[in-house]
Order: sequence, then structure tokens, then C-alpha cells
Amino acid sequence: MQTDKPREACGIFGVFAREDMDVARVMYYGLYALQHRGQESAGIATSAGGEITCKKGMGLVGEVFDHNSFEKLGGRMAIGHVRYSTTGDSVPENAQPLVTRYAAGKMALAHNGNLTNAGSLARELIDKGAVFQTSTDSEIIAFIIAKEYAAGSTIEEAITLAMKRLQGAYSLLIMLEDKLIALRDPWGFRPLCIGDLDGSTVVASESCALDTVGAKFVRDVKPGEVVIIDNGGMTARQVRTDCQSSLCVFEYIYFARPDSVIDGISVYEARLEAGRLLARQAKAEADAVIGVPDSGIDAAIGYAQESGIPYAIGFVKNAYVGRTFIRPNQDQREAGVRIKLNPLKETVRGKRIVMVDDSIVRGTTSARIIRLLRQAGAKEVHMRVSSPSFLHPCYYGTDVGTHKELTAYRNSLEALCKKIGADSLDFLDVSGLSDMLGGRKVFCNACFTGNYPVRSEKETQQ
Ligand code: SF4
Repeated sequence: MQTDKPREACGIFGVFAREDMDVARVMYYGLYALQHRGQESAGIATSAGGEITCKKGMGLVGEVFDHNSFEKLGGRMAIGHVRYSTTGDSVPENAQPLVTRYAAGKMALAHNGNLTNAGSLARELIDKGAVFQTSTDSEIIAFIIAKEYAAGSTIEEAITLAMKRLQGAYSLLIMLEDKLIALRDPWGFRPLCIGDLDGSTVVASESCALDTVGAKFVRDVKPGEVVIIDNGGMTARQVRTDCQSSLCVFEYIYFARPDSVIDGISVYEARLEAGRLLARQAKAEADAVIGVPDSGIDAAIGYAQESGIPYAIGFVKNAYVGRTFIRPNQDQREAGVRIKLNPLKETVRGKRIVMVDDSIVRGTTSARIIRLLRQAGAKEVHMRVSSPSFLHPCYYGTDVGTHKELTAYRNSLEALCKKIGADSLDFLDVSGLSDMLGGRKVFCNACFTGNYPVRSEKETQQ
């Protein structure tokens, strides 16, 4: 809805059915629940009778699949993917799952995250004769696993060897003809969890997808862990323990759905707490607190609880603005925002407003929204942001932009406040992130601090 929000790269979902089950339909509902993690393409690969079948395409889950798709996608095992491209082009051949051949048959792979050493790995493989069909780093992962397997390793050993070479973010689902493998990079940048659906196993980027298909949450896949699900049951191996746990803190602030629980912490609770912390750190004299839909709302409620300033609904969001909406040109941007988001005059007229949003990347949308509030009669607009300011790019599977694109990197707080037209502006302090997560000390906050858990080959190019 808001063009200057960072976007998550992908969502992944998988099923290993032990009972008769309409696996493709479960996949469809699971991917639907993860649609917020990627809207450019969607795909499902199923395995039946030793054969892997895949349907994927550009668009939303509901645009790529219909009833006929389910009939063609039989089988008892499946993986699926929704994608937004942060590396690789937005083209059909980059849609996932990626289905490739290796020495023992076919392999399907679904990936969430970005490798930080993809460039050097690709160069090395190309120099040795590798040919790639896509421009994604996911194909590099598939290639390395296939290569290790061809050199005489078991598939489990091949994955372990690959994990020693891969740097950066990769939550992965790998489907072979007889087993489903779930793994998470040793830093645990992106989430991945396991659920139980009447004795069958489900794996998803977020627990909200488990709830959607009626599965019970079992546990998160641990950073550096490989979980193998087959007819014999589920086995897990901790392959790497040598990296600092670095779950993306922005999953809690913005990317994940509030009804998800990641690594034992509720996203909704974290957002409420961010709002409460913000109210303590960045007080404002005001008559009402409003949130920018959707993800600013929870933090706004927290801000209101802590400050004692009443919470009010500040905007009505048009839920029907979809992909077919004709994007406004530069002159019509104001109208474009108003079509999506209209201030509730009764709430804001004549009032001093605290407006809470989850982040500012370029600042253009914040400026437009504040102008709309003033046109609706707001007397003062104090903007509070439930994350620290973005000062550095992300290399781990999101599109938090380059230094050039990050307005907080280029402007002082005062200059940014003026630029967006607010009466005051403040961000959550970096020190508040740990409190927001109930005291958790280890997580990735590199886009706010520049403390990168893994160096990226792209850093020098920024
Ligand atoms: S750099 Fe920021 S957006 Fe990227 S993984 Fe770390 S916390 Fe998340």
C-alpha cells in the first residue's frame, strides 16, 4: 500500500502428508497466509510417485492458481513459494520453487533470504563450466548441493557441505522424491517453523500460515539446523553452531504478520511494546494517538496505553486497492495516497495528533500523509516511528535501500522533520530494540546500526 516501505524477499511453505490430504489445497491456503512476504510470483511443486510437478507464475497466489491447478498437483508432499525480488530480476524464470535435476533425480527448492557471497560462488562455478537458468542466488545453492552429491556424498552430507560454503540468509525448503528437508542458515536471519497437521508435518516461514491451515505449532527450526522429514518420521541435525544468532529484528517491526510468533516472541506483543517504549522515549503533548495502517496501528495502541493519550482511528484504508490499480503519475501522487488512505476528519479535526508509523525509508509517503492530516483539520502532527532510523542497507533478503535512498542517512532529525512537514519527529532508540523483544540480546539490527553479522560482497558497491 505504501510505496516507500521496505519489502521482504519471500515466504516459503511445505507439507509432508502422512494421511490422505488435498496437499495442493493446503499449500494454497498456506501460501495465501504468507502473501505479505512476496507478491511478484507464486509457485507450488508437488511430489507424487517419484515425480515432481511444478506450477508457478507471475502474480499473487490467487492469480497463479485455480481449481484446475489442484487436480494437476497431486501427491503427498509439496513445497511452495511467494516471491518479491531483491536479487535476480522479476521475471517468470526466477519464480520458485526451482526444480532442478541432480544425480539421483529431481530436486525442488524454495528459498527465503539472500546470500552475501553469491557473486564469488557464481563466478567460481561458472569458471568451472556451470550454466545457470536463472539470475537468483537460490540456483547457486541447488547447484552446490547437486555437485557435492555427485562427488559421492549422501544428500544430507551434501547439504552440510553446502552450508559450510554459503554465507548470508537462507531459510530453505528442499523437496526430493521421498523427503522434505527444512533448514535455516547458521545466523537464523529469516524465520522458519514446523507445525503438526493431524499427524502430517507442515513447515512455514511464519506461524500465521500454520494457524491458517489448522496446524499446531511444534517448534522453530533452529539457526544452523537441518530437519529431514520422510516416511520414517522427523530427524534433526545441528549442522553449524559457530555463528551468532541474528534474526532480523525488522520481522517484528514490520515484515511479519502480527498474528505470528517468531522464535518464541509474539510479533503483536513486540509491536505493542515498541509503542510503549516510544511513548517513554519520545513524549508528545497531544489529544489523540493514531496509527498508519496496517503495521503502525499496534505500536500506536502501545503508545496510547503508555502515554495515557486516547487512541483513535485516524485513517480509513481502502482494502480494494490491488495490483490492477493504475498507479498515479508524479502529479497525481497525492490523490493516489488519498485513494488508499483517507484521514477520518472527525478524529483529527482541531486536534493535536501523535501519528505512529513503523518506519521511514524515503519519507515521501510520510510527507503526503501528514499533508492529508493537515487538510483534514489536524492542528499539530507529531510523528513517532516505532523503529530506529534506517541508516544502512540490508544484504539479507529485504530491499532496505542504498545509503542514497535512505532519507535518515542524508538528513538530520530536524531536517527530516521539516521535510515531512511534521511539528515534531522522533524514532525508537536502538537501545529499545532489546526491550521490545523482552530482553533478547542477539538479533540483526544492521540496517539501524551498521553492525553486520556477516559481511557482504555488495558492501563495497554501495
Ligand atoms: S539489516 Fe535490517 S532488514 Fe536486514 S536482516 Fe538485519 S535487521 Fe533485518
